[in-house]
Amino acid sequence: MTLLSLRKFASTILLFLPLATAVQLAAQQNPAWTTPFPPFRIAGNLYYVGSEDLASYLVATPQGLILINSSFESSVPLIRKSVETLGFHFTDIKILLISHAHSDHCAGSASVIQLTGAKYFVMDGDVPVVESGGKADFQYGGSQTGRYPPAHVDRVLHDGDTVSLGGTVLTAHLTPGHTKGTTTWTMDETEFGPTGPNAEGHRTLHVVIVGSPNVNAGYKLVGNQAYPQIASDYKHGFQVLNSLPCDIFLGAHGAYFGLKEKYARWQNGDRNAFIDPVGYKSYIAERERTFEAELKRQSAGR
Ligand SMILES: [Zn+2]
Repeated sequence: MTLLSLRKFASTILLFLPLATAVQLAAQQNPAWTTPFPPFRIAGNLYYVGSEDLASYLVATPQGLILINSSFESSVPLIRKSVETLGFHFTDIKILLISHAHSDHCAGSASVIQLTGAKYFVMDGDVPVVESGGKADFQYGGSQTGRYPPAHVDRVLHDGDTVSLGGTVLTAHLTPGHTKGTTTWTMDETEFGPTGPNAEGHRTLHVVIVGSPNVNAGYKLVGNQAYPQIASDYKHGFQVLNSLPCDIFLGAHGAYFGLKEKYARWQNGDRNAFIDPVGYKSYIAERERTFEAELKRQSAGR
């Protein structure tokens, strides 16, 4: 078969494939999305339990666990294995949060909820999307490949809301544009010095988990009838991201913050590998310039 006919064949079978298989195929486009990654402790009670690129985070408290990002349906067994490798019980997940309502971060939510009984807390702008299994998405709602099992939202979050469990508090910052409810999560981790609390070396680290500042291919920033305020939402999102104090820089994808490189340093004993305030600032600045350039290009009708 020639490459062209192979492509034709592939797109024809995509039309007839069941939904789950189509999603799996989409996942195969980026192998790093589904490549397992060793789970590890980032700081304090915050752990990495995602794949090589689809980031999931576990917050462990005396009252149970919080999971951020269920990722694809096929990711759920990987996340479960990571949670258990760390010595936690998957069924102790009490609260499920997401970075934003795209299938690579939330398609597995129905499965996580079914397995754990966790309560699902989602930012208001993303609620119709996750509850419709992706149908209400302004960009991808019309295509089958972005669909996933719908999941009921137990608590609707608004900008600035906090989520508390067992003494840990996470704050939901609305940083919209990429989706209407894209959420950047922040929390503080207290690191004790070698001799314990209130001693030398005690410090508070501001954690930022970036929701996504990216303008996807095909996004209309000008004259978008399904999302008229998209450009001003992105601008507001960048204002918020620029204002957040950040020591530990994380995000919805490992690639945002250099997971692989930083983990290699972590493995070599550098427990400060994820402390990167400078990297955070330069990442946000670069993403903002990219957004502004795209807005300028679309505004000029090019
Ligand atoms: Zn996305």
